[in-house]
Amino acid sequence: MKGKPVADLITEKLIVEVENLKRENIIPKLAIIRVGNNEEDLSYERGALKRCEKIGISTEVIELPTSVSREKYIQILEKLNEDVEVNGILCLQPLPKSLEGIKYKINPAKDVDCFNPINFAKIIQQDNTGFSPCTPSAVIEMLKFYNVDLKGKNVAVLGRSMIVGKPLSMMLVNEDATVTICHSKTEDLKNITKKCDIVISAIGKAKMIDSTFIKEGAIVVDVGINVDEEGKLCGDVNFNSVLEKTSMITPVPAGVGSVTTSILAKNIIKACKLQNNK
Ligand code: NDP
Repeated sequence: MKGKPVADLITEKLIVEVENLKRENIIPKLAIIRVGNNEEDLSYERGALKRCEKIGISTEVIELPTSVSREKYIQILEKLNEDVEVNGILCLQPLPKSLEGIKYKINPAKDVDCFNPINFAKIIQQDNTGFSPCTPSAVIEMLKFYNVDLKGKNVAVLGRSMIVGKPLSMMLVNEDATVTICHSKTEDLKNITKKCDIVISAIGKAKMIDSTFIKEGAIVVDVGINVDEEGKLCGDVNFNSVLEKTSMITPVPAGVGSVTTSILAKNIIKACKLQNNK
């Protein structure tokens, strides 16, 4: 299950939506706030800017030093919250410890990557006016694109972070899957994953999941982005080891990661339309 066809399809649809909005003089806009120059942030930012440009979404990047004060960050965020020309705000994470609690300050209506807990609550409530986080949404979009029926399926989600594991688990439940959430304290992980129809890994451990974790014919989604012993990008799953056993699997790179910026763009357009009563 490659990510590009999924991202391309979403992008094509969004280009048309933006053309329609522009006919009414509405130009969707994303503001990114980045603290420091961490390579992961810069790489995601580059991908997001490129995707937005392709779709016709205007962008602004606010770059702050790691020494930025809490007051200054909040001041910038609140200005964006109120700026009618900005439809979506992306606060690149993780943020320094001194900025803890900032998530409560972002306007939920512009919170295009589900940073504010209000949007997490909306997932649980199945309230469609909220925004689901980009990576879990990318997983769901991929499974749907490749016609994976989630209804009644046993799904193991490995990882319980607020960015991936927890929201993804809830979104899968909303799709009628039966979900087991696993984490570093889970006992006998293999015994759980080996019984599951779908295994989704977001643990950040290079190639840890090999064929002994997977049942014959299972579907495997690898969210992990790691570096292997040769310095190459790899997932949590040992691709070559599990390949024969799986019915479908996402690669790393070129899998889930390549869909996330198109979901971000989708959320920006959604925010823009809601803010303009469209
Ligand atoms: P975190 O480090 O925040 O969370 C990792 C989770 O995995 C934790 O819940 C942890 O458990 C669990 N875990 C760690 N080791 C094990 C283990 N041996 N067995 C079972 N569970 C384990 O990471 P993120 O959620 O932010 O990211 C996870 C991975 O996904 C990373 O590789 C990251 O790079 C990647 N990622 C990819 C994205 C994409 O677009 N494709 C976007 C975001 C992340 P515990 O809670 O007990 O500590």
